[in-house]
Amino acid sequence: MRAARVERAYPAHMGLVPEIGRDGAVRVAARLPGDAAADPSTLRSHNLGIVMRMLRDRGTLSRKDIEHATGMVPASVTNLLADLSSRGLVRDLRAGSGETRGRGRPRVMVELVPDRCLALAVRIERTRVTGELHSSTGHLLDSSSRRVELGWGQPGDVAHAIAALVARAEGIAADHAGVLLAAVVTVPGPVGHDNRVADSADFGWGHLQLVDLIRAAGASRSLPIEVVNDANAAALAEYASLTLPRPDVMLYLEGGSGVGGGVIADGRILMGARGFGGELGHVTVDWRGRMCRCGSNGCLEAYIGPEGLLASARLTELAESIGRDAAMDEFRARLDRGEKRVVDVALRAGDILGAGVRSIYDVVNPSAIVLGGYLAGMRRWLEPGIQLQLAPRTERLAPLTIESGRLGRRAGLAGAARHGLLAFFDDPTMVPPVRREGASAEGA
Ligand SMILES: [Zn+2]
Repeated sequence: MRAARVERAYPAHMGLVPEIGRDGAVRVAARLPGDAAADPSTLRSHNLGIVMRMLRDRGTLSRKDIEHATGMVPASVTNLLADLSSRGLVRDLRAGSGETRGRGRPRVMVELVPDRCLALAVRIERTRVTGELHSSTGHLLDSSSRRVELGWGQPGDVAHAIAALVARAEGIAADHAGVLLAAVVTVPGPVGHDNRVADSADFGWGHLQLVDLIRAAGASRSLPIEVVNDANAAALAEYASLTLPRPDVMLYLEGGSGVGGGVIADGRILMGARGFGGELGHVTVDWRGRMCRCGSNGCLEAYIGPEGLLASARLTELAESIGRDAAMDEFRARLDRGEKRVVDVALRAGDILGAGVRSIYDVVNPSAIVLGGYLAGMRRWLEPGIQLQLAPRTERLAPLTIESGRLGRRAGLAGAARHGLLAFFDDPTMVPPVRREGASAEGA
């Protein structure tokens, strides 16, 4: 019965198998990828990670909740929580008046210490760089911007601006007795695993080693710095905002200056072998079709990207005179007014989007699609086409839900911070124990 609960509460990738050893000690053995006989310290880190992720995803929990959801015995849970507490990562909440149940002892609730572990998320735009400092509980501690001059194809003073944001974040972390664990920079365009910005159509960058430049500008060598695609990061944040249980595989498509996207599998960005995965906007929907700015023909973006939609709605001239973003606002206003030509364009965009998603469905079998950017506001018109195109799959195999993103423009940086903290939630022992000066009292 317990095993069934474990399965339901935590999917197979959590790899949790409670067992009693020959010496009578109960251990929570973990099935680690490719390592059946993990050494005890690896096992311990793994179990600490499981408890931390539970507290991140579900908020305040009782020890009993943790025991039930993981199948661990009370002694194991106590032991793991003591370890996490010694690192300043979790704290007990003394049960308030309403928390006492019956005649039993008051329930002791446990939660993450809010501002202990932090990640800096950075967004680069043409004229400014914005840094947000997020805690492991998703709390936004600080937001700050620096003006930059981005010459076309040149990084300009971006690296210095980011190094300054890192220094600011380190100062704030110190003030909060927190640990800055990562800085994650989001850019529009594909980014490789080596942090190389391969090609940014928005900035004219190609093969730019941004992390080296940020370090050369003075950012500390010990801080992990990563560059990720902005839509991939947004996908992760939208995934995290979904109600539990979250889908094992989720697709995210975002309309902005182009069509970005991301695939989230088992709570992580699916980046592929070299890091360039998840470019859903460049799925081929017509191999002889319209030219896309990526150099291919018939990509999804060529039809449902802003230029594609405006061309189909015969608003290209308007875009040339008032600018693309203003023309997209006009597109949307006409859609809301029910202007037939624009409504037809939006409905057809749904069919095209559906055809693209059908191809992806056959490869990664998602159970949810989240639409972001201007696609979120068009969902009403897109959804019929998507469902129609997917019907041969969803009716025969498994359904797929379509939602609008909940976070809007906040998604990119929130997701970048979450991504930066994943390694910590895998192995919380990367935060060392807190030195306590003789006092035994727990912090409030
Ligand atoms: Zn393309």
